[in-house]
Amino acid sequence: MTADVTHLDLAAPAPEAVLPDGRRVAFANLDYAATAPVARVAAEAVQELLPWYGSVHRGAGALSQKTTFAYERARQTIADFLGCRPADEVVFTRNTTDAMNLLAHALPPETLTLTFLGEHHAGLLPWPRAHRLPIPGSPAEAVASLADALAAVRTRDGAARPLLVAVTAASNVTGEIWPIAALVEQAHRYGARVAVDAAQLAPHRTVDLAAWGADYVAVSGHKLYAPFGCGVLAGRADWLDAAPPYLSGGGATSSVTDTAATVVWAHGPARHEAGTPNVFGAVALAAVCAELTTSDGVGWQAYETVLSKRLEAGLSAIPGVAVLRSFPEATEATDRVGIVSFAVSTHDSADLARWLSVAEGIGVREGLFCAHPLSRRLLADAGRRTGRPMPATALRASIGAGTTEDHVDRLVAAVAQGVEKSV
Ligand code: PLP
Repeated sequence: MTADVTHLDLAAPAPEAVLPDGRRVAFANLDYAATAPVARVAAEAVQELLPWYGSVHRGAGALSQKTTFAYERARQTIADFLGCRPADEVVFTRNTTDAMNLLAHALPPETLTLTFLGEHHAGLLPWPRAHRLPIPGSPAEAVASLADALAAVRTRDGAARPLLVAVTAASNVTGEIWPIAALVEQAHRYGARVAVDAAQLAPHRTVDLAAWGADYVAVSGHKLYAPFGCGVLAGRADWLDAAPPYLSGGGATSSVTDTAATVVWAHGPARHEAGTPNVFGAVALAAVCAELTTSDGVGWQAYETVLSKRLEAGLSAIPGVAVLRSFPEATEATDRVGIVSFAVSTHDSADLARWLSVAEGIGVREGLFCAHPLSRRLLADAGRRTGRPMPATALRASIGAGTTEDHVDRLVAAVAQGVEKSV
């Protein structure tokens, strides 16, 4: 047993669960990949702004000035956290899905987007013209397959066609980390831009747009210990500034003529942020970003790795349980974020997930995780590997700040118990 480590205090303790057998336990939330609990620094940042709550970008009064300052300072803090270059634009969105859709909206005409079929739907679906590559079996295969596809597209369509590669930095199904810098290198060789979905990486590892050399990055505040409703698209300004506004309305305009026949749209992030923005969301997210930049990320990563391995080893040892992986040859040393999806050949995943919550006070996710092609493929692979058909959906346990060895051990023991009986 190691000492529990955290790099981020949470705003509220886990609620108590009263189990059918009368036991009272702290609810073990192992569903961080869906939404992380709110951090104490996020709640404090909201609390601090409450007395100064005012309209953003629209008032001369002290409240408005203070709120506007807090909102714009949050933008800068988040830019620093994401490793943005000085000329990059940081646009506030509702979440990663919204950020990817904003980018899809801003693509120059005829842009072809290349994605892998293993993407979360937020990275798989928004693109007006998409070419989808098969799910690779290793990071090296991903890089080679992208290079081949880009070469073929350039040969077919010529050098002028705008190309975008949309790729996740860490899979929400397997936790596997993708070789972003190598993918960017290939994409840039063929004049393609790269948008990185860092929704799952950002809560666990450093996001560094500049070091990757990538062109865009998207994150969600609610996966980063901030409240719902604030996300970010950051990256190169030219396509964003050339595109029509994502939303038309106040805040996105520089001027509108008396008959509204002529509108001059703003440049910079305001162009795509019409309407009153989510200031609390931005300020809370920035507070978490600042805290994660200064807290002991290295210590936390080491602890997270211990927990992830314990979780995966514990689940894998239970008869009938199959852990889902895209990169089966990955070594012990291969880095992954704390996400383990699994299925039990003999059990319906939804029944098992419900039982874990009701009977054991443990929360996991069940389903295909908004990555249907990948989840189905991995379930089918697991069925072939084990020689036993898998259920139609899977379970996913994911960890973050506040997760302890006790949570992990409770889950492993409960799954073992659930597998033994018919739940
Ligand atoms: N990308 C990945 C890898 C995700 O895991 C998720 C959410 O689960 C998203 C994108 C979408 O995030 P949101 O629902 O916050 O838009």
